[in-house]
Amino acid sequence: MTAHIVHGTGVVAGFAYGPAAWTKARPDLPHQDHVVPEEEREAETTRFTTAAGTVADRLAARSATATGVAAEVLGATATLARDRGWHRAVAKLVKGGTPADVAAVQATEQFVAMFEKVGGLMAERVTDLRDIRDRVVAELRGEPEPGIPSSDTPIVLLADDLAPADTAGLDPSTILALVTRLGGPTSHTAIIARQLGIPCIVAVPDLRQIEEGTPVLVDGALGTLQVGADPDAARTLVEEDSARRVAIRSWTGPARTRDGVDVDLLANVQDGHGAHLAAKAQAAGVGLLRTELSFLSAQVEPSVAAQAALYGEVFGAFPGRKVVVRTIDAGSDKPVPFAHLEHEENPALGVRGIRLRLAHPGLVERQLDAIAQAASEHGVEQPWVMAPMVATLDEAREFAAECRSRGIKPGIMVEVPSVAVLADQFLEEVDFFSIGTNDLTQYAMAADRMSAPLAWLTDPWQPAVLRLIQLTAAAGSRHGKPVGVCGEAAADPLLACVLLGMGVTSLSMAYGAIAAVGVQLATVTMDQCVAAAEEVLACRSAAEAKAKAAELLG
Ligand code: PEP
Ligand code: MG
Repeated sequence: MTAHIVHGTGVVAGFAYGPAAWTKARPDLPHQDHVVPEEEREAETTRFTTAAGTVADRLAARSATATGVAAEVLGATATLARDRGWHRAVAKLVKGGTPADVAAVQATEQFVAMFEKVGGLMAERVTDLRDIRDRVVAELRGEPEPGIPSSDTPIVLLADDLAPADTAGLDPSTILALVTRLGGPTSHTAIIARQLGIPCIVAVPDLRQIEEGTPVLVDGALGTLQVGADPDAARTLVEEDSARRVAIRSWTGPARTRDGVDVDLLANVQDGHGAHLAAKAQAAGVGLLRTELSFLSAQVEPSVAAQAALYGEVFGAFPGRKVVVRTIDAGSDKPVPFAHLEHEENPALGVRGIRLRLAHPGLVERQLDAIAQAASEHGVEQPWVMAPMVATLDEAREFAAECRSRGIKPGIMVEVPSVAVLADQFLEEVDFFSIGTNDLTQYAMAADRMSAPLAWLTDPWQPAVLRLIQLTAAAGSRHGKPVGVCGEAAADPLLACVLLGMGVTSLSMAYGAIAAVGVQLATVTMDQCVAAAEEVLACRSAAEAKAKAAELLG
């Protein structure tokens, strides 16, 4: 192949050099060419149940030997293979004479259509559903399991998209880097790559140009794959980078800059289990408890007591430490059945987050009661609680009043650009900010955060997004109030330094990302971060900003 470079969105920094290997082909999807005779239908259903069970057992066994996020993801995918709704849908089709493999495909498509209609986070699960379908279809036909190629020698793994079950089983000693044609900066692929400490690029439109076996140089910071790189120069880059990766795997804290400034590296969690894992990963506390993620299948609103028990587990994992609870952010990409909403043409711009108070009076107030109860049961004097998707000063004021009347410290997420623009006024209403860069970027750039073709726009390095963050952080300094970042931007080691340089006071991320940020912080001084922030803010594109940060801090 002739020398050339293809571009995508770099999500985990680092260099890798090795032969490209594509994920194993998915099975050709079957079409119905016969009707199963009535007397064989029961056996055909059993054949499906057995195949799905085998696939689930295999995933569960891999989950048992994996750790952290990988174990959770594999476990969740195994559960999906046993999903009763899916099994029922297949059984119904087989009962009508459809062969098991065709029924598996048709039943999956019913669920896919449902998930895609909802959009956002649910639409991301479509990859998981189709992955399970393909594994079961292959099993029914006696074919090898599709997905990651097994290789004894290290490879750069290329895929259209990676299912969580694929990424969760990855071995960093043979997989040098992950590169996907689709996916976004917040996809499972990115999260797992961060945990494994391997470079990762997503949303590479021209990835198909790279043929199996071609040696490629991956630059995870710039988001480039270079074909035809000089092998010696490429290996030198990788060697220089490998010391950093070894340091990430053995990092045990503290999170401190080279000149001795302590930095609060917090974790984004969804429940007590995640909080305990985060505590093990040296998180200083919880910067974002995404409460809605515990309710994704709740048909009725959990009682105050049940909610208090859930939140209490998180307080219990971090006794005496900071835990920031976010009130329910249902709607859009996170539909919660009991907070069901009317159909919306454009749910990301619809009734979500704090706006749910309109459709569900009392919902947020009961949640605040539960948080206050959990806090008092765990000896937390004044819990930190923030509201998502706040857009107006009135919303902030009303939320703060509800919090204060319960002894809660009120804060808001900065996700809607209106808050960044009026940051000073909002800080007169609340005690702290947490910048949700995932949504702030989506709304500032008018680009769906889940869109692969628009991943270059939903990049927090976009100058306009950086400027909004800086405006917000500067207002925080003026008011002497904390301004954290809890979007994916905080997990990018270089951007983390730039954010601190802008005056951000804490960083919260998936706990698997903490070590990489901690290692990077130890190599820079706070003055360097401040100087880098100033220069990065003067850049005119995301690429220029990243390159500038890499030059000054890398
Ligand atoms: C964000 O928007 O950056 C954020 C942290 O919230 P979520 O990803 O849960 O929408
Ligand atoms: Mg958000």
